[in-house]
Amino acid sequence: MTESLQTSVIILGGSIVGLSSALFLAQRGVPCILIERHPGSSPHPPRHGLDAPHHGAVPDDPAHASLDDAGRKALIRHAIGSDEEIEILAQGTWALWGSIADAFADKSLRAFLAGDAAHALPPNRGGYGANTGIADAHNLVCKLEAVLAGRTDRTLLGTYDAERRAVALVRHDQIFAREDYRKYVADSAWLAERRKGGMGDIEVLDDVAMELGQIYRSSGVMVKNGEESRWALAKTPAEWKGQPGTRAPHIWVQRNEEVISSLDLFCAGWVLLSEDGGLIERLGAVAGLECVLVGQDVQEVEEGNFEAAFGVDKYGAVLVRPDGYIAARWGSGSSAEDINRMYILVSYAS
Ligand SMILES: Cc1cc2nc3c(=O)[nH]c(=O)nc-3n(C[C@H](O)[C@H](O)[C@H](O)COP(=O)(O)OP(=O)(O)OC[C@H]3O[C@@H](n4cnc5c(N)ncnc54)[C@H](O)[C@@H]3O)c2cc1C
Repeated sequence: MTESLQTSVIILGGSIVGLSSALFLAQRGVPCILIERHPGSSPHPPRHGLDAPHHGAVPDDPAHASLDDAGRKALIRHAIGSDEEIEILAQGTWALWGSIADAFADKSLRAFLAGDAAHALPPNRGGYGANTGIADAHNLVCKLEAVLAGRTDRTLLGTYDAERRAVALVRHDQIFAREDYRKYVADSAWLAERRKGGMGDIEVLDDVAMELGQIYRSSGVMVKNGEESRWALAKTPAEWKGQPGTRAPHIWVQRNEEVISSLDLFCAGWVLLSEDGGLIERLGAVAGLECVLVGQDVQEVEEGNFEAAFGVDKYGAVLVRPDGYIAARWGSGSSAEDINRMYILVSYAS
């Protein structure tokens, strides 16, 4: 008997990124069908081609590629500094390569690439593989849910490629600018091409900035004319001050009797934060937008933290997207109409 199934979302691949996507969708009440070619769990990490050093455990020596089990065990004992008995359960090799897809979405915005299907990068000290893929899934699912629920125009899905492909490209460059992999690309056509284009060597960015502080630039983020050109590609969370396109910062706030992180206010929907009760009153009820009056709905645990961390003044406001990123912010003198208009623009509310 053939069973017929209907779904709005099909996920191909049930490893880290496919499963993360399914979980993020389930969290938002969106059913999906996930298809995995392996009957059990996938081998992890995935294996592809030739040997390369990983996390410094295996020295960079081509002779190691042809070692037998006894030789491998000796190498592992040397690396961990112990004579422990070792059982090799599986061994494999992978290709040291980096490639980023030309597009993360098709033109009709119905098919998307995420994880290693979108960006294959060698393992490094920073988890640019799985972490980047899970963040792709989170970014895409937040948008997909809004489109499937009919709150948002499909155009919003175009910002997935703009935001996540840019992140992958920076990570690609940072991996090959770092000590572990620099030597592999020293004579590469890619680096020669960059230099020819006048781009020179790549500046190594801070690890924490790369992990937590890469900025999004797309039509899902509103910046004042020319403002973003002054901002770095990545900074640590402590260095950002609520710039649109960055993760909303953490500060401790009190809600009712409970002390929570400001981050707990986000990721369920659109949130506008302001200390200006008059502004929130003038804004009134806006579909799909939760307004949080700082000083009333939540209290700062340390006075002045909200303005300092989010970069707004007493009469300003900040708009946070359902994925926890800042979409826009306003200084004093901004009108409720202005805020409403921009909210509609960045959320593609339909
Ligand atoms: C040696 C090594 C160490 C690593 N260490 C780290 C680390 O410490 N931290 C980190 O963040 N990342 C690390 N990575 C990278 C990380 O493993 C990958 O980025 C991550 O596994 C990518 O997840 P994915 O779900 O996108 O793809 P994959 O894990 O490759 O999964 C793809 C899935 O799709 C399935 N599939 C493929 N084709 C089909 C099809 N036609 N139909 C159905 N199913 C299909 C496959 O069976 C597989 O289950 C490492 C990688 C390697 C090689």
